[in-house]
Amino acid sequence: MARKVLVLGEVREGNLRNVSYEAVAAGKLIAEGGEVVAVLIGETVASLGAAMIQYGADRVVTVENEQLKNYTPDGYSQALLAVVNAENPEGIVLGHTALGKDLSPKIASKLGSGLVSDCVNVEVTGGNIVFTRPIYSGKAFEKKIVTDGVIFATIRPNNIPPLEKDESRTGDVASLAVDIKDLRSIIKDVVTKASEGVDLSEAKVIVAGGRGVKSAEGFNALKELANLLGGAVGASRGACDADYCDYSLQIGQTGKVVTPDLYIACGISGAIQHLAGMSNSKVIVAINKDPEANIFNVADYGIVGDLFDVVPLLIEEFKKVKV
Ligand code: FAD
Repeated sequence: MARKVLVLGEVREGNLRNVSYEAVAAGKLIAEGGEVVAVLIGETVASLGAAMIQYGADRVVTVENEQLKNYTPDGYSQALLAVVNAENPEGIVLGHTALGKDLSPKIASKLGSGLVSDCVNVEVTGGNIVFTRPIYSGKAFEKKIVTDGVIFATIRPNNIPPLEKDESRTGDVASLAVDIKDLRSIIKDVVTKASEGVDLSEAKVIVAGGRGVKSAEGFNALKELANLLGGAVGASRGACDADYCDYSLQIGQTGKVVTPDLYIACGISGAIQHLAGMSNSKVIVAINKDPEANIFNVADYGIVGDLFDVVPLLIEEFKKVKV
């Protein structure tokens, strides 16, 4: 059954996040040959429409307004709901990002629809759109189908591959005027931390350190290894609590949930709350001097040893090969 599906493109610092293209790929599956309409919300976003089309969207609707320069729950929900009301879609897809997690339940409650959140896979099986999502902190997966109403889903970044970019694709980019009003929160200023390299939640390679790294300086070698591999540095809460690094790097139940292709855990014991944020990584390498450490139970490759010996050796070896 062909459906019209709305997909929200997520804009950060003037650029589309990768999860936007992944959402288009999910939207295509849900549309089953129907139309995928990308929605872009912000102050000036129309120039990003072409990229959404090149990654598979059929057309783009933008809502541009100076009050939408930064995300606010009221502003974005008014903008997205206006597009939903104008387009009347049968499916909606957002990234399961900080923004998507905040916005999607608001929209679902206004529409009176359900919401299948944090999906890691979407497939068409036996005539149904089947969503797979982790439960019990990633220890099991459940499969869901939507039997009634709008098919509304959020997808976890880094799980559904985007379609190949096709620069010859063209499509309509139209704007919808929306009167944004009654904002209960107004962003006066955005203070960003100096970001170093790759965004942790979208990184393909993560080198994460735990309390075993022993100091902020100890993280320098992990940063070097991450840079060599084109990846990002992450941390356990143990390392954040010990002030070795910023809480924005924390991975786990109360930190970020990541699914990189390669996760290298250095001096991390593997507490259940840490595993909740990384156990779905495609390949896990653990370096720990305790052979009984729980992290080895989820690792594909385990190195029992002192990270201060092993990480420099890895750096030395990776320098020899072009990654
Ligand atoms: P530790 O458990 O102290 O482990 C350090 C490891 O380093 C040990 O295994 C040790 O063998 C190894 N080591 C030491 N020296 C070396 C060396 N030189 N070379 C190699 N290995 C070495 N934790 C998270 O990470 N993320 C979360 O989101 C999170 N949320 C939580 C939420 C709640 C409600 C609670 C109660 C806890 C949460 N925690 C979370 C904390 C979690 O329970 C653990 O305390 C934490 O993950 C431990 O961090 P760690 O593995 O770095 O430290």
